[in-house]
Amino acid sequence: MSKVALIRCGTYNYEDVKEAVKRGIGLLGGINRFAKKDEKIVLKPNLLVADPPEKCVTTHPSVFGAVAELFLTTGAKISYGDSPAFGSMAGAAKKAGLAEVAGRLGIEEADFKNGADIYFEKGKQNRKFIVAKALLDNDAVISLPKLKSHAFERFTGAIKNQFGCVPGMLKGEYHVKIPDPYNFAKMLVDLNSFVNPRLYVMDGIHAMEGNGPRGGKPRQMNMLLFSEDPVALDATVCRLIGLDPEFVPTTKFGMEYGMGTYLESEIEIVGDDLDSFKDDGFDIKRSPLRTYKAKGFSRFINNRFVPKPYILEDRCVKCGVCVNMCPVDPKAVDWFKGDKGKVPVYNYDNCIRCYCCQELCPESVIKLKVPILRRMFKR
Ligand code: SF4
Ligand code: SF4
Repeated sequence: MSKVALIRCGTYNYEDVKEAVKRGIGLLGGINRFAKKDEKIVLKPNLLVADPPEKCVTTHPSVFGAVAELFLTTGAKISYGDSPAFGSMAGAAKKAGLAEVAGRLGIEEADFKNGADIYFEKGKQNRKFIVAKALLDNDAVISLPKLKSHAFERFTGAIKNQFGCVPGMLKGEYHVKIPDPYNFAKMLVDLNSFVNPRLYVMDGIHAMEGNGPRGGKPRQMNMLLFSEDPVALDATVCRLIGLDPEFVPTTKFGMEYGMGTYLESEIEIVGDDLDSFKDDGFDIKRSPLRTYKAKGFSRFINNRFVPKPYILEDRCVKCGVCVNMCPVDPKAVDWFKGDKGKVPVYNYDNCIRCYCCQELCPESVIKLKVPILRRMFKR
């Protein structure tokens, strides 16, 4: 039986969050179950990019601080880190408000910049990874995901949070090598099995819905979730937002690969009443994902079925982030004839639908368009 603690918290007021975090971890047996004196523990928040807390892209500094403070009481040595999609971790942590909290608590940055090659014998889809050196320098990881919608994997939660353990731009290479979202999810599950966080604390006080994981809207969900089982935690969130856990590839393969369970009958919810958090109005795609293969006839068909990214031209500031982050060669979104004064254009024949451009556009002006044929078939 897996246990998920679900705690109501309607504000980021530091004292309230501290109380909620203490209660949640207490329901799982108390902080001393998760750290011992002199152990080296690294906290892994979501620091996707340098955005302020109110955008709901990153783990809120109050949640980060409350967890860090509680772990410090054990006498363990605490550090923190993540590898943003681009830019430095120091810059992202500063903008997200985490650097200020870390400075106040005397917590140092862990090394998420340099990578180390590892071979993970138990991997089912992937055995070779390059992971942040911080993972090898520490005894355990505590994962602090943010509840957000996600164009590529439907939802980003406890399992997907550990993709930030792959240093910087190397993340794009995984998208090129594994364009299929189901296989990509299998890789994420293998990676998470290797990282094997000791505890997951999800920031779901203000979540992100819609065009996530960077361009969506905040949605107040008033909850913090705690578990040692990332599959059970993600599945619980799915149930709260009316999303079938089987349609989230990381949850589906998380269970198939034995990382945890998404079955309601095998999850014990402790803390506050589950039904009181249910929100069927949460804006998220609830249909199964479609596989995209960018080759030959299947490309021709899929171009007519799989959602395409497109730019709201009048709101594009021509920063070039989408062009820089597009991982394929030749680029599927690029400057028109090299002119950086114009809005970038798409070549959908090269596009593998990884949605990195949509994920990282700082102005949130890349949207997804469902092709007309797919809409007709759906109807
Ligand atoms: S990332 Fe967004 S704002 Fe920047 S060039 Fe691309 S579409 Fe325009
Ligand atoms: S255009 Fe966007 S969705 Fe297509 S391959 Fe490039 S980054 Fe991925």
